[in-house]
Amino acid sequence: MFKILPDKRLLEVVSSIPQDIKPDISVTIFLQSECQAVAKAEQKNTLKQVIEWGNEKCKHSNYLMKKKGCPYCWQELIKEVDSG
Ligand SMILES: [Zn+2]
Repeated sequence: MFKILPDKRLLEVVSSIPQDIKPDISVTIFLQSECQAVAKAEQKNTLKQVIEWGNEKCKHSNYLMKKKGCPYCWQELIKEVDSG
């Protein structure tokens, strides 16, 4: 299966984000989750489908926000991909 980046490389990318744009640890964890979700989703869907998913309206924000901007949507995607 094609993957955007291997997990190890993914973590290197996240950990290489400069300290001055890391506001706090929760954002870093979110970025890791986001990258991992993309990598996992890539295994299941095509990249195009992931982009379309990200551009869908988010139900958590009364459809004012897109899914790619919502940590809850990412968590749901991770769960969905994890459950196969
Ligand atoms: Zn959402």
